[in-house]
Amino acid sequence: MANKKIELKGLFPEELAQQVSNMGLEKYRTRQLIDWLYNKGVTDFESMTNLSKAVRVRLDAQFKLLKLNRIGQIESASKDTEKFLFELPDKRRVESVLMRDGKRRTLCVSSQVGCPLDCQFCATARMGLLRNLTAAEIVEQVLYAQRFLRARGDELTHVVMMGMGEPLLNFDQVIRAIRLINLDYGAAVGIRRITLSTVGHVPGIAKLAREKLKIGLAVSLNATTDVQRSQIMPINHKWPIAELLSAVRAYCDQIRRWATFEYVLLHGFNDMPEDARRLIDLVRDMPCKINVIPWNPIEDAPFQRPPQSAIDRFVNILTQAQLTATVRYSKGDDIAAGCGQLYQEMVSGQ
Ligand code: SF4
Repeated sequence: MANKKIELKGLFPEELAQQVSNMGLEKYRTRQLIDWLYNKGVTDFESMTNLSKAVRVRLDAQFKLLKLNRIGQIESASKDTEKFLFELPDKRRVESVLMRDGKRRTLCVSSQVGCPLDCQFCATARMGLLRNLTAAEIVEQVLYAQRFLRARGDELTHVVMMGMGEPLLNFDQVIRAIRLINLDYGAAVGIRRITLSTVGHVPGIAKLAREKLKIGLAVSLNATTDVQRSQIMPINHKWPIAELLSAVRAYCDQIRRWATFEYVLLHGFNDMPEDARRLIDLVRDMPCKINVIPWNPIEDAPFQRPPQSAIDRFVNILTQAQLTATVRYSKGDDIAAGCGQLYQEMVSGQ
């Protein structure tokens, strides 16, 4: 039978300690391994120089170490957004996007290669779902960005699960990754600074609440009637708006945090004053804020980006109703790193 090696990078410290104990090694080796894996970011056992040659050979025989090959990196003209393209061990590709905003350094992380949910305004949808990412592959995106920033005297402060894929469709690996990202070594991002963005997988939201993780929840709403939402987001056929909002309410009650509703503004489709007024009615009894995102154009899509006047009109109606609403002007839409633009055919700009 083939020897199936265990991936070390997705293990919790206690699981790592168990593996160390199974090998008959001293307890302190766990701490050394954690340091190599999460702080120093080595990708082969040979580099673990405080372990004897014999131990390194044994580790190599039983375990593997994920290496994400960064095969592309491109910076927006404004220099506040950087997109990384990674090649996975099976040669598939994912992207993450690093955004700088004041003192905030946020990494937008992918959770799947492609996505099965077919939202009409989204470039990733065109790939379909190729596969789920492992926890190690998710964590490694974050560790890469953390190392990238630390080499420049900077620090990653926030993580959003908002890249390629619907994170709640890869629940176990995403939750494992979040817990690893939050540990006090490696990326060490505070739990309240991690946000998961969903398009409305209702059972997944309920399951997430039961995890009691206190991470932020962002919901990509984008429409205010079921007819309208189902046109651009097929998931709405399964879990319509009322069910979705009730799950979000329950999450907020459980976690005692505000939700964020993302609203991608599509000109002539959902950017009219009546859309804004229906949005107010839907969310006014909820502790939430609204992120209005003027649509970032992708090729051959039947939508238009709204003009500034339509954006201002929409947001003004929300704020006049005392809702907390902000416009998220795309960071990096010139490098296809804006919301809904992630797609594997990125230009490789070294
Ligand atoms: S918007 Fe999100 S959930 Fe919808 S297709 Fe794109 S990646 Fe998938």
